[in-house]
Amino acid sequence: MPLLRHKSLGAQVALPVVVALLATTVLVAAFLLWSTRQADTLARERQVRIVASLLDRRMGDMAHDQEASTVWDEAVIMLRQPKLDIDWIDINLGVWFHQYYGHDAVVILKSDGTPVYAMRGGKRTEPTAFADVVNGVMQPLVAELRGKLSRPQDIRLTGRFRSATANDLAVIGGRPAIVSAKPIVPETSAVQQLPGQQDFQVVMRYLDGDFLTELSREYLIDDIRYSSTPAIGAGEAAIPLRSKRAGVIGYLIWKPFAPGSAVLRQLVPALIQALLLVGIAVAILLVRVRRSALEVEASKAQAQHLAFHDALTGLANRALFEDRLDGQVAALRRAGGTDPGIALLYLDLDRFKTVNDTLGHPAGDELIRELARRLAGITRETDTVARLGGDEFAIIQTGVDGPADTEVLCLRIIEEVSQPFQIAGGQIGVGISIGVAFPDADADRIELSRRADIALYHAKSSGRGRFVVFDAAMDAGIRLRGIVEQQLRSALAAGDQFELEYQPVYDALTMRPVAVEALVRWRHPTQGRVSPATFVPIAEETGLIEPLGEWVLRQACLDARDWPVATLAVNVSTVQLRNPAFAATVMTILQETGFDSSRLELEITETSLIEDAPLCQPNISYLRGQGIGFALDDFGTGYSSFAHLREFEVDRLKIDRSFVAGIDGPDGGGAIIRAIVDLAHAGGMAVTAEGVETEEQARHLISVGCQALQGYLLSCPIAPAAISDLLTAKEGNQRSVAA
Ligand code: C2E
Ligand code: CA
Ligand code: CA
Repeated sequence: MPLLRHKSLGAQVALPVVVALLATTVLVAAFLLWSTRQADTLARERQVRIVASLLDRRMGDMAHDQEASTVWDEAVIMLRQPKLDIDWIDINLGVWFHQYYGHDAVVILKSDGTPVYAMRGGKRTEPTAFADVVNGVMQPLVAELRGKLSRPQDIRLTGRFRSATANDLAVIGGRPAIVSAKPIVPETSAVQQLPGQQDFQVVMRYLDGDFLTELSREYLIDDIRYSSTPAIGAGEAAIPLRSKRAGVIGYLIWKPFAPGSAVLRQLVPALIQALLLVGIAVAILLVRVRRSALEVEASKAQAQHLAFHDALTGLANRALFEDRLDGQVAALRRAGGTDPGIALLYLDLDRFKTVNDTLGHPAGDELIRELARRLAGITRETDTVARLGGDEFAIIQTGVDGPADTEVLCLRIIEEVSQPFQIAGGQIGVGISIGVAFPDADADRIELSRRADIALYHAKSSGRGRFVVFDAAMDAGIRLRGIVEQQLRSALAAGDQFELEYQPVYDALTMRPVAVEALVRWRHPTQGRVSPATFVPIAEETGLIEPLGEWVLRQACLDARDWPVATLAVNVSTVQLRNPAFAATVMTILQETGFDSSRLELEITETSLIEDAPLCQPNISYLRGQGIGFALDDFGTGYSSFAHLREFEVDRLKIDRSFVAGIDGPDGGGAIIRAIVDLAHAGGMAVTAEGVETEEQARHLISVGCQALQGYLLSCPIAPAAISDLLTAKEGNQRSVAA
């Protein structure tokens, strides 16, 4: 059976949810990172601009500061003195610039470029002290200024500046610095100065000192430092320091404020918590979804199981059984072997209906379940045990090497099923019948099943509790059965093909007839007389026994009404007795024929008293209450006879002729008959021995106390006219048995 494989519903739901969750997380994280970067970049660019403009401003401020002393009539005059007043310069152009503005160095140069004054770190020093700086940095600035001053039309003075300015960045003593040069010019027209006569003040201020401190403190630019190389650390920003003459002379490096990262740092724990919560919620949801998906899948699997299995026993059902049998037969055909390989067994419980009727359906179900367990226990894993319905089972036995393998299995099943079942608080004994068919070249599944069914039928009709293997002759029997059934129907409809014979029963002491037993005969239009042993079982199976039995009873009552014999015995099938209307039918016939009920004795079989007792018993009880006698026919052939002997509520036992025949044998058959007779008498029952064929049998039966004898020795069944003569002949009806 191909089981459909579905992607689990849980997986179907879980995957998209997890993917969506992950995607959302990734998107949110990406967006956060992007916006953090964006904010950080903006902040960094802003700081870069701030640092650059502060640098510009600082340079402008220095130039502006210089103008306080360099655009000044007195300064022009004081520097024209042949002998310079150095103290005056200290106070107005030199040291003062350090004290008041914090400049690190000042140099005064004459118009020809000769340094005449120098101040460093707030102290006057030798004018030549700065030779390197003066030559490397200051002279070029002075030259630039001179150029500007020679082209006054070019000097664009902004509102802020009152004189030309030349300034630049330079590295001095390994430190970055701003160097700013100004001409010393008169403020008013009171002092005349010719072009080219201007002296110069050059101031210098290091950038890495208080300038950086101020940047840090006032503009919150952290850890700003100077580096000659652009080697920046992670997350740092840098701006190059460009000198007009020397190009990039180094870098200002700092850790820019990163508002995005700061926000992110605060957000991340909260975000992680939120994500965790969402994750947990989703996980719980998924577990729920998965659980219900599993439930759905389980019920799907269960439905599929139900579709192929019997609900009561869990065994394979008919659909699965047929599927497997088809598969096995096809496999055998492919293999092309003559080897049986498999065997098909049909099984039927022998007394299941009784259990159902007496103990109820729950007990019946319990019995079926227990039987299923036993069958499953005996068979192999590769065999298929199926319940086809009711008490019908089938087994496909695999790995069969020969008929002996199947025989062993059948015997085990029969043995196993014969063990009592513990059902509804009591023990129940049932039997099982088995029909076996082996596959051959032209048997498909349907043919194989038909054969097993026919074999089962034979097993049941040949006495139950046994197994029968199909053979071709059975087919002929079945066909004949079909024909016989057809003909029985038309015979009953025609009404003139049946007749009765009567066999007298003799009193063992007087040897006179005390009873007659009616036996039905069928005069077949083409086949002549057909034995009741052939057609009665078919009539029973088809239910035709009921109309036939009614006819027999009515005819016998009519025939025997005036015969001088105490008892008329009529055979009654269990099928008739099971019908709840049977007692009424009998009473009606007695009434219609005017036959005395106390003269009627109905012969029944053990089946009516044991297996079908629940259905037959009410009829038996009622009719006995009406004075009708009951005889147990063929006593000793059913296997539970002796066990139940005391319980039978019948008036007579008819010892089966197989026992009677055994009297002559060596195995002490006579002793058994004695025991039966004693037990029957103890139970208040009369005993008739049937099938008495020899004088020796008759003598023995008389000697053990058997009161009535029936058999060919005394009389065959004979036509009504003949029996009438026999009974009315006063002398001729006595038989004698030589003592
Ligand atoms: P049964 O009820 O046991 O009837 C006795 C059978 O034994 C009869 O066979 C009879 O001819 C035969 N028989 C009598 N004496 C001897 C003897 O000494 N030796 C041998 N070997 N056989 C003897 P029959 O008439 O062929 O009937 C066969 C069975 O058919 C009966 O067995 C009975 O079970 C059934 N049957 C006959 N008539 C009826 C009927 O009207 N209704 C029903 N339900 N069953 C009937
Ligand atoms: Ca009989
Ligand atoms: Ca009999």
